[in-house]
Amino acid sequence: MAEWRADVFTLFPAMFPGPLGLSLAGEGLARGIWSLETHDIRDHGLGRHRAVDDTPAGGGAGMVMRADVVAASLDSILAPDDKRPRLMMSPRGRPLTQARVRALGMGEGAILLCGRFEGIDERLLEARDFEEVSIGDYILSGGEIAALVLLDACVRLLPGIMGKAQSGEDESFETGLLEYPHYTKPRSFEGRAIPEVLLSGDHGKIDAWRRTEAVRLTRERRPDLLKD
Ligand code: SAH
Repeated sequence: MAEWRADVFTLFPAMFPGPLGLSLAGEGLARGIWSLETHDIRDHGLGRHRAVDDTPAGGGAGMVMRADVVAASLDSILAPDDKRPRLMMSPRGRPLTQARVRALGMGEGAILLCGRFEGIDERLLEARDFEEVSIGDYILSGGEIAALVLLDACVRLLPGIMGKAQSGEDESFETGLLEYPHYTKPRSFEGRAIPEVLLSGDHGKIDAWRRTEAVRLTRERRPDLLKD
């Protein structure tokens, strides 16, 4: 299978691969299971100061990244027939879900655009066909950490990254439920025992217990997940 290819457009290329250079993602990067190229939008900035932003039309606080500058950066790199999803990290976007992550992981890769300041001129998103994606209902100072989150979630699912293929599958959200609680040695920790059933060796009972716990935790913490 061809490698999963990520291209990231950012004002802070030094933030990549960052944490994705370590552990499973980092090993996968070194082994060519996936690739990551970062592109500094400022290379296409205007004038002596390589300006990438300007004041918002209509007034108000902050600065907006210019459509022409971002377009020049994208167009210098991307082939017109590149079919990878084009995603702009944005708190206004559709929230990222495990289902979306899985779909992205099964594709050829992704093209990620990281905003800074107040964001990017709306016309760029229309003209270059970017879909906005959010990693949650809070505001980050830039799209880079959101891009790292999205990439981490996708890359860990790629064939050859995770040791045991199974450990992707019964995780929280994959089953529509939060995951059951985990235990390991020692058998007694500060007077707390491991639930008896987990030591019984009866795999039917263990599966039933885990399922019950998963439903209980989901009902307590995320009743919204049970509706679907
Ligand atoms: N003015 C914007 C926020 C800009 S934050 C608004 O109110 O909607 C600056 C940049 O950080 C954004 O352009 C985006 O790329 C990134 N960002 C901030 N929060 C994010 C989130 N929850 N998910 C994804 N990207 C986010």
